[in-house]
Amino acid sequence: MPLDEFDLIDRFFRHCGPESSNVVLGIGDDGAILQAGHTGGNTEELVVATDTLVAGTHFPEHGDPAEIAQRALRVNLSDLAAMGAQPTAFLLALTLPEADEQWLSGFAQGLSQAAQTFTCPLIGGDTTKGPLCISITTLGSVPRGQALTRSGARPGDIVYITGITGEARAALDILQGKSRAETNTENHLLARYWRPEPRIAAGTHLRGLASAAIDVSDGLLADLQHIADNSGVGAIIEAGKLPLSKPVQTLTSHQWALQWALTGGDDYELCFTAAPGLSSRIDACMQSIGLPATAIGAITHGQGIVCIAENGEAMALQTPGYRHFGV
Ligand code: ADP
Ligand code: MG
Repeated sequence: MPLDEFDLIDRFFRHCGPESSNVVLGIGDDGAILQAGHTGGNTEELVVATDTLVAGTHFPEHGDPAEIAQRALRVNLSDLAAMGAQPTAFLLALTLPEADEQWLSGFAQGLSQAAQTFTCPLIGGDTTKGPLCISITTLGSVPRGQALTRSGARPGDIVYITGITGEARAALDILQGKSRAETNTENHLLARYWRPEPRIAAGTHLRGLASAAIDVSDGLLADLQHIADNSGVGAIIEAGKLPLSKPVQTLTSHQWALQWALTGGDDYELCFTAAPGLSSRIDACMQSIGLPATAIGAITHGQGIVCIAENGEAMALQTPGYRHFGV
């Protein structure tokens, strides 16, 4: 049987090195949680996450270098957001085919802009020669015991999604020359792909309210499946409750807009769960940060995710989400 990305991690890397009491949470979530030190009295924990973007796989190779840099930092910060962490700093490991000054100048400008926007300075890294590849490690902090994880969802909890999903998937069609739209629509969708918004304020405000959270990088259903697996539960999603993008619906049919909202990756919205009794507090919290969160379903006993179509029947979906080495 060929190994997919997650089997591979489980089999070869899940248990590497000694157990350590400094590791509050290791492999398997959006970020790892470490105790900030040995001595008592520490009230913050360190959250660490890393993500690699390979040219041609995670971004078009000949894209604008400033946009590539923006995207690279933003998608990495999204993992901190999913953990409820506040960014502290980041490291950059850059592999370049050549030291092209013009490319580097654009890249540095985009990177600096994103670093300013999210108050997250670059503190180190590594530079090597090879096929274009950008690896970023982000460091963040969270009050002890308050990080959001993938493992806390309980049957009966409500499933929420922030903002709108499916727009980055539509942008990909535009980037690949498969779709065209009028300029404003294209610009909106392309910005969603190149400059996704890490939902940091949502993550920090949901501490103590959300029972589990994940950022949607591979597709809403695929990423919700990670919450379900890590929490030992299932979920039921009502497709009719999903917010659909108006710009996407100008490009494609309602059915495809829905399919992309459920399975398209790269939106970096937060999917989270919370006990039903907290719904008015969740609404107030999201209102205070000006970001809508929509209740789209519920956590169930058992395992697997059932998606109910607008006509009440179980939906057949074309792809569950992106997997490297996937078959
Ligand atoms: P995300 O989509 O949030 O970046 P991934 O799906 O890439 O998360 O990874 C799932 C989990 O596996 C994460 O906890 C990640 O840190 C861990 N992981 C991925 N690759 C490796 C590796 N080569 N060695 C150790 N842990 C890994
Ligand atoms: Mg993630």
